[in-house]
Amino acid sequence: MIAVFLLPPLLPPLLGALASQGSPASAPGSRPAAPALEMERVLAREVREANMLASVRTLVGFGPRMGGTSSGERASAWVAERFRAEGLAVEVVEDPPLRAHEETKWSVEAREGDSWRPVAGAVPYGFSKAGSGSGPLRLEGASPGGGVLLLRRRPRGPLPSGTLAALVDGDAVPGTDYSVLHPLAGRAGDVPVFAISAREAGRLREALEGGPPIEVRFSLEARISESSPKTVLATIPGRDRTRSILFCAHGDADSGGPGADDNASGVAVLLEIARAVSAAVRSGRVDAPPCDLRFAVWGTEIHSTRAFVERERAPGRSGALAAVLNFDQAGFGSGDDALFVEPDDVPRNGTLVRSILAAALDHRGEEGFPSRFTSNRALGGTDSYVFQEGAAGPPSVTVFASAFGQPSFVEPTTGFPRSGDWAAKIRIDHDRFYHSSGDLPENTTDLEPFNMGWCARVALLGALRAAPDLR
Ligand SMILES: [Zn+2]
Repeated sequence: MIAVFLLPPLLPPLLGALASQGSPASAPGSRPAAPALEMERVLAREVREANMLASVRTLVGFGPRMGGTSSGERASAWVAERFRAEGLAVEVVEDPPLRAHEETKWSVEAREGDSWRPVAGAVPYGFSKAGSGSGPLRLEGASPGGGVLLLRRRPRGPLPSGTLAALVDGDAVPGTDYSVLHPLAGRAGDVPVFAISAREAGRLREALEGGPPIEVRFSLEARISESSPKTVLATIPGRDRTRSILFCAHGDADSGGPGADDNASGVAVLLEIARAVSAAVRSGRVDAPPCDLRFAVWGTEIHSTRAFVERERAPGRSGALAAVLNFDQAGFGSGDDALFVEPDDVPRNGTLVRSILAAALDHRGEEGFPSRFTSNRALGGTDSYVFQEGAAGPPSVTVFASAFGQPSFVEPTTGFPRSGDWAAKIRIDHDRFYHSSGDLPENTTDLEPFNMGWCARVALLGALRAAPDLR
């Protein structure tokens, strides 16, 4: 059983978000009138976890979806098609080019005795050079050099001459054959470099000590290019077309792995919000939203968001964005079942964060809503922060289920309601498969379908409630 502690709620005026049947306004600090709450439930019920789980699986099936790669192109084309199918106006934008890497096919095998067997957990690091070959497996610093090096840590610079390829065991997800993936920098990628399972590396080290030589053969198909990520933008027209609320998510798996939680989950939430609102408006069950609802699936995290902000600053477009709601890791948390909103320590975010938390509070206990939720101070590292890089950006928050690969502990910000049993410091949940080859639907999103449902419903209702108060 979960105790509930509530800090004094300082709720803004909660206008009936969906005006057709709702009462026009509620007094400050009170719940919306019953008809307005009922209209919110109409929208909430339209959000389907099954659709989001299916979207995650489809997106992961396209590969890592990195900006400027063929995998990214396939994913953005599919996302654009999904928005179009719901009747949204869609624009696909080419962002400034960046250096992109795409690994399409690889194998690593070891021969011990007469038989070849796959090396467990082998997965290439981003910006590894393509290539194939075979050679003796050697430990770091061994003499003679050359061959295939077995390293404890990911290389940071050029490898010794004669090195054909490298296997690395330094960055494993504990207790699994999955590895955390990082892009290689500079000349570290002069040869194919693969992460391998730490357990496998241990076996190979043991076999090498005093045993017969081990031959390794490898192949990697990979492409490094200077290419433009494709960002997909879509719009649901609102009653007031001079202002908009932007829902966004990075479309790439920024580590270069499968990225089910990070961040197919965020894209899936976006698609489902768009579908649910469109379906409810089309059927006449709710009015058009109070202002335009815009959607952005960034071709590349941060890079594409910065390009968007630049474009929005162009003459004639400034001032239109009333709020930004970003979704990143919306689908899984390893140590808790809770919804988080950040950052609440940025003054311009106050109204938006409170509206989101108020929507969660007012629907707590209903199917599809979380019983544990909180806001937290800035953790950084995701697209919503790009909108706060300038002095005059719109309120901009991220709604999420986990952040990073380890829990974070932060002091609560006073003045925001939360629900659930929280310690003196807020424990921000983590994803143990963060940025790893194990961020697969079966390890993350499939296990906790409720997370994406919570994020979609709470963020959508919170944004609509805040709309009248955001300029
Ligand atoms: Zn992310």
